[in-house]
Amino acid sequence: MDKHAALDIDLTVNDIKQYIYCPRVVYFTYCMALVRPTTTKMQFGKQSHKREESLQKRRTLVKYQLIHGERRFNLRLKSERLGLSGMLDMAIFTRREAIPVEFKMSTKGLSLNHKYQLTAYAMLLEDELFARGKPRVICKGPLKPRRYVRRGFVHFIPTRRVYEVEITPNMREYVKRILTDIREMVASETMPEVARQKNRCQDCEFARFCSDIV
Ligand code: SF4
Repeated sequence: MDKHAALDIDLTVNDIKQYIYCPRVVYFTYCMALVRPTTTKMQFGKQSHKREESLQKRRTLVKYQLIHGERRFNLRLKSERLGLSGMLDMAIFTRREAIPVEFKMSTKGLSLNHKYQLTAYAMLLEDELFARGKPRVICKGPLKPRRYVRRGFVHFIPTRRVYEVEITPNMREYVKRILTDIREMVASETMPEVARQKNRCQDCEFARFCSDIV
């Protein structure tokens, strides 16, 4: 890929999540055009998300410590400013805030890549709501000033645990840093080091391309 074009590529929220998990996964996707195969685990995850969506429609918002709010599912979000897009599982709109919610099939609990994935969705939601000057149809009702997205939730389907994540200015900056790092990696075509946590390599679909893992 042309170096200047690479510094401008559009990225997805999934890239951010993967990059924190292991930068090489993103390198393989953009620099070697290796398509991640759809695994049974991924298919199962999709079905579980659908089931959770229909359950959510019947439930109250008590798990999110809210009494009132409008839920929207599978929101396609895009920011020209960030060169970023993604599909958010759910957003809750109240009179005062917009709250991104991600569903997870993991039983391991909250990890760093979940937090920054949620932060990226929060930034996209803000840009969709405010950067265009007027809100798109993703939300009904009055909208208040910027910084309207202050927190989000990660909802673990198997354990039914819900974690609240505060979206801080430092986390927003870190997401921007990652976007820059990914673009620089793609532009320089430099393969990053192997994942720091070696147990991640055990189940990785790209393991056969990482001849240096031990
Ligand atoms: S095998 Fe390990 S180092 Fe290679 S892409 Fe997968 S997680 Fe990263």
